[in-house]
Parts: sequence; C-alpha cells; structure tokens
Amino acid sequence: MLTMTVIQTRLPTTRPHPRREPRRSPMDALDPTPELLAELQSSSEALESATPEEILRWAVDRFAPRFTMATAFGPEGMVLIHMLAGVAPETPIFNLETGYQFAETLELREEVLRRYGLEVEFKHPELTVEQYEAKHGGPLYETNPNQCCFDRKIKLLNAATVGMHAWTSAIRRDQSADRARAPIVGWDKKFKLVKISPLANWTKKEVWKMITDHDIPYNPLHDKGYTSIGCWPCTRAVMFGEDERAGRWSGTAKTECGLHALDDE
Ligand code: SF4
Repeated sequence: MLTMTVIQTRLPTTRPHPRREPRRSPMDALDPTPELLAELQSSSEALESATPEEILRWAVDRFAPRFTMATAFGPEGMVLIHMLAGVAPETPIFNLETGYQFAETLELREEVLRRYGLEVEFKHPELTVEQYEAKHGGPLYETNPNQCCFDRKIKLLNAATVGMHAWTSAIRRDQSADRARAPIVGWDKKFKLVKISPLANWTKKEVWKMITDHDIPYNPLHDKGYTSIGCWPCTRAVMFGEDERAGRWSGTAKTECGLHALDDE
C-alpha cells in the first residue's frame, strides 16, 4: 500500500540532526524476490504523478532507517537536500569524495551544514590521489577513466550503502537517452538496492525555478557555463547549444561514471 502524505514545509534548522544508525551488515541486504520487484513496479507506477516530496516521504516510510542519499551537489541534488531537510532530515546523505572534485563543490558541503544543519558525509577512496596516481604511473582519468570511476566512485558507493536497502538519486529522465528509462522506483542490480529517483519527471527549468524560488544554494560554477559538474579533470564548461552533459568526459565516448548506467540494471 502506498502512503501518500501531504508535505508540510518545515523551517530549516541550523543544528545537525541525530541520525538513526542502521545495523551495517551485508547479511541484511535486501533480496529482490518476485514479490519485492512487483511491489516496486506497482509503487513506481503509482508514484508517477506524485510530487518529489511525496516520493521522498514514501521512500522514508517504506525504507528508513535503511534509506540513504548520494549527492554530487548538483542542482538536482541540492533541491533534494532542501526537500529532505523538511521531509526527513535524519536521512544519511553522503558524497563520493574522489579527491578530484572542484573546491566550489566541496564548499557546498559546508553551505548545506550552515543552511540546513545537515552533515553530508564525505566517503573517501582507499588511496589518496597522490597514492593512486603513483600506483598507476600517472592520472588514470587520462588513460582509463572507466577504471578511475570504478575505483573512486563505484567501489565507494558499494561500501557506503552496506546495510542500506534503498538510495535516492537526483537524476532526471530528460538529461540523457540513458536516463530516459529511469523508473521512479526500481531495483538497482548493480548496487543491489532499491533506487528512487524523485526528480525523474522534472525538467531542468523546474529544478532551477525551485532553486530560485527557495534561494537554495548551488555550485557557482553553474554561472560560468558548467551545466553538469563532476570531477575537475573530466568536466568542462559547455558552449551555447550543447547538450547539458556535453562537458562531461568531453572528447571521449564515456557519458556516465557508471552509477546510473541503466544497461546494467
Ligand atoms: S570523473 Fe574522472 S577523475 Fe572522477 S573518478 Fe571518474 S575518471 Fe576519475
């Protein structure tokens, strides 16, 4: 049964919220039984016309405290953080801190703490950038970006979600052909989690309207032509008329870091 709750906007607090700590044992992993998959599909269909806040509320009611959010502090992520601050501020939020993020991106963690009292946890790879580049004889993002993303993002997300049953991402269907098939709620085979995409149906315009209307903090690089921001070595500003993700891994066939590759699902 879906629980649809009318969302009441709450004033942001300036103090960190206590977190409910789930037991973090791999033994607690969710089993994608036919019953669960059927439930997810029917919930996804029912939530197609729900607001992002209603979707988040459903996710919290269904999966908390085993519900988490990963953010790269993009505009969509900032909108979801703003919503979570009102709907479920105890939700653990983390960032995959590859060591290659822009200083402006890292600063948003502090801004989220100041504005909402939410502590986004940095998840670090096993090796520092210096150790990693020394091990591989130089920056792997130049020669093997897929391996670099795997080591510095995918493995981190796997480790960060041990003991979790569901995670929310901030992807929109209109961002790319790959993302166009994203359900609101679905089984994420790669990470063995339920993946919830509350903004799947939103447009870029709706995201920026929310940011403007609510004065939500955002990465200042967006004002300099960076429409989609990842690690600095693999991100450039886009030119007029280019696709919003054209600045990611520009000049290569790579379009996703692998966190949201639906072919794997
Ligand atoms: S986006 Fe680039 S620097 Fe970041 S993990 Fe992937 S390949 Fe490495």
